[in-house]
Amino acid sequence: MPSKNERIYFVEALRERGYVRRRCKKCGRYFWTVKGDAEVCGDRPCSTYSFIGNPPVKLSEDLNSLREKFLSFFERRGHVRVKRYPVIARWRDDVYLVGASIYDFQPWVTEGLIEPPANPLVISQPCIRLTDVDEVGISGRHLTSFEMMAHHAFNFPGKEVYWNEETIELSLDFFTRELGLKEEEVNYIEDWWSGGGNAGEDFEVVVRGLEVATLVFMHYKVVNGKLEEMRNRIVDTGYGLERIYWLIKGDPTIYEAVFEGLCEKVKRIAGLSRLDNELLSDAFKMGGGGGGVEELARRYGYEVDYLNKSLEAYRALYRLLDHSKSLMLMLGDGVVPSNTGEGYLARLLIRRSLRDLSFLGGGLTLSDLVKMQLEYWSAVFPEYKEVSREILEMIEVEEERYFRTLRKSKRLLMRKLKDLKGRGKRELPVEDLIVFYDSHGLPPELVKEEASKEGVIVNIPQNFYSLLAERHSSQLIKGKESGLEGIYEMIEGVPPTSKLYYEDPYLPHCEARVLRVKGDYVILDRTVFYPEGGGQPADRGTILHNRGKAEIIDVRKVGDVVIHKIKGEKPKEGEIVRCIVDIHRRKKLMRAHTATHILLGAARRLLGRHVWQAGAQKGEEMSRLDITHHKHITEEELAKLEELANEVVMENRSVKASFMDRNVAEAKYGFTLYQGGIVPSRTIRVVEIEGWDAEACGGLHCRRTGEVGLIKVVKVDRIQDGVERIEFAVGEGALKYVQGLYFAARKASSLLNTTPKELPAKVKELLARERKFRKEIAKLKMERLKIEAERLLSKPLEVGEFKLLYGVYEGLSEEELIKLAAEVLKTCPVGLAFLTNKREEGELDYVIMLGQGLLSKGFKAPELLKELKEVCPLKGGGKDDMVRGILREDCLEQAVSRIVRWLRSGVG
Ligand SMILES: [Zn+2]
Ligand SMILES: [Zn+2]
Repeated sequence: MPSKNERIYFVEALRERGYVRRRCKKCGRYFWTVKGDAEVCGDRPCSTYSFIGNPPVKLSEDLNSLREKFLSFFERRGHVRVKRYPVIARWRDDVYLVGASIYDFQPWVTEGLIEPPANPLVISQPCIRLTDVDEVGISGRHLTSFEMMAHHAFNFPGKEVYWNEETIELSLDFFTRELGLKEEEVNYIEDWWSGGGNAGEDFEVVVRGLEVATLVFMHYKVVNGKLEEMRNRIVDTGYGLERIYWLIKGDPTIYEAVFEGLCEKVKRIAGLSRLDNELLSDAFKMGGGGGGVEELARRYGYEVDYLNKSLEAYRALYRLLDHSKSLMLMLGDGVVPSNTGEGYLARLLIRRSLRDLSFLGGGLTLSDLVKMQLEYWSAVFPEYKEVSREILEMIEVEEERYFRTLRKSKRLLMRKLKDLKGRGKRELPVEDLIVFYDSHGLPPELVKEEASKEGVIVNIPQNFYSLLAERHSSQLIKGKESGLEGIYEMIEGVPPTSKLYYEDPYLPHCEARVLRVKGDYVILDRTVFYPEGGGQPADRGTILHNRGKAEIIDVRKVGDVVIHKIKGEKPKEGEIVRCIVDIHRRKKLMRAHTATHILLGAARRLLGRHVWQAGAQKGEEMSRLDITHHKHITEEELAKLEELANEVVMENRSVKASFMDRNVAEAKYGFTLYQGGIVPSRTIRVVEIEGWDAEACGGLHCRRTGEVGLIKVVKVDRIQDGVERIEFAVGEGALKYVQGLYFAARKASSLLNTTPKELPAKVKELLARERKFRKEIAKLKMERLKIEAERLLSKPLEVGEFKLLYGVYEGLSEEELIKLAAEVLKTCPVGLAFLTNKREEGELDYVIMLGQGLLSKGFKAPELLKELKEVCPLKGGGKDDMVRGILREDCLEQAVSRIVRWLRSGVG
């Protein structure tokens, strides 16, 4: 394992400016400073924040012009400005959200697979990190969303850009010449960084206790816990925009600085009392003092209760400001709240905010707050304002859902608490807190409140939400099942297969040379057979060769080689064969695939730009498209979706597929390209429906939309929280589907002697008639039971003071037997009803019911059942007042005499 490369820290640029290397007395780290006698590194906790109320420079910049200052400084110094990436990391399969600017370039650029969009480059990347979500609003310095301003240089073998010297010089110049800080304010601390599978030495830049930048020299790969030198060396820097702004403003908390005007506005609306800046800084442990609320109250002349409440309100306010901005970024970039993946993280922020809002009062809603954020950031992020309708609607739906589930879940919680107390327990375990949050939407603070009313203790872990967020912040890399075990040796040394299906998707056959045959697998030099991919199934067809023919039963692509699985006679290596694709089936699949793209474009226009493809499967008869959406698609929306899609078909737009450089394609179409997921290559194939939809897609498509034919949506289902599944049929399949419906409707209407259009009215009428009949039948049955009851009561078998009411029936249900028994015992409480009904050959259903008079004498039906079982084989069971089951017909008489005996035993 290579150890740290200490030489990286010895930078000429630092020494030239009079920096010397010292070792921190407190943390032991080495650091560079111009103060030769400095003893501590200047980072927390070795030093405290000394900029609060006392910023090191006076600047007139606001947050936005500070960002601009950074970007244009690096532009002047040879960097190309790159547009920000979305906060949802669509191009990665290991994380959901962008947590640092380097995420934008991992893994494709850092691995050297594709060129960086510019080199060197400068960017300000909004990032979301929920790792310290519990600290937000408590500590005064944590944020869940922040902008990482960065300059990156990618050094590839033979193509050096710059390394440690230039990095330090640039950073020094930015802090001192551009921002005007004195060199004695800026310390460089030697440190070590690792993340995302990479590692390297780094400098932390600190000013007055605040870490304002990290400069990483990434040149190791972490493989199985060991460091390996990378081929590429990458300068990965991160300058915290919000932190630097806080530094030059010297506000008591970072929130007061970042949200300035907005913070004041919300304070006014929520009616928050104004607290002294020094007090705030002490209370949020930012400045020197600190101490408990009691001490603060004494020091600043407040009542303890009042101060406690005010501070609690400030914490809620800060959290709300932070969370609502993160929500704007997340929802605006396409996250749909749900219970999985990035949707889970959004919902977590929403629910925490709703809780804080109900505490804060003042009638402020979360959508109000997000609306204010949209306005507040509209100059820098106009793209979010463009989708404000979608963002606000998602928030409103979530608000409603939360309050609805809250009511239900509270009842559930009360039951759980009672149950807990019933079992003598006094504490609710943390696992239950997680279940209540995850499955029932109950925040732990609320659970604690309710529990304390019941005398049950709840201990909420301080990092409760961070734990939840961490559980949901990385994706499981999906296991790849290829079904092609042992195939990798087979493709070794085989040249890429020439893919004729891309050159002409209508080509029905070709000649090809057999390169390899192994088991049932065949590799050709060229092929017309499309391998499974992008939700489009593999082609079917036949291969004709010298010894006969073989059927194609599966086609897969491994790397650049297409492998055919065959059934039948095997061809020989080296021979020329004729490949014939089932072109009829292929065309069906092409239509289905093009229809999927058309529908997605329609859904994004109709439902909103947050809609994203969550999955798709094309079939010959039926296809499906799963989209992210925060609520159910209504019937009207469905009809509109269908109309819009079919309009695009009728407009007969062109569909073009072309291979493009990844950077060029991303710049032209944006990240909405990756509807079908990530594409791991330098060039990507872009399928564009003229003026409608563009996606990175490896599938086969029609030349024009008109070929698709009718698109008929068959069904919409909610398959998981936040995901709707649209099932549809296309072309022939759609026609067949509609014909099927038509014929069924015709048949049904002719049976009912009406027309298909009148069918619903007719069925309604029939159902009403059926209901009426049912009622009449029930009435008749009741009357029959009454007559039967009178008959039974008129000839009871007297056993002392008791009466046996015995009857044998046919055609009564068990329910009717019970009703009858209950009816007779109402008039005859000293009776025992023994009623049977013939079921199959030789068997009877029976019911034995005891009247109140018998029960009060201590008779119990199950005891009788036990005795009966001694004389005749019968099944059944029940409670004290009634037993029921099945009895053999031939022991009926024995049963009756046994019952009489049993009754007699109680006479007296
Ligand atoms: Zn230190
Ligand atoms: Zn596609």
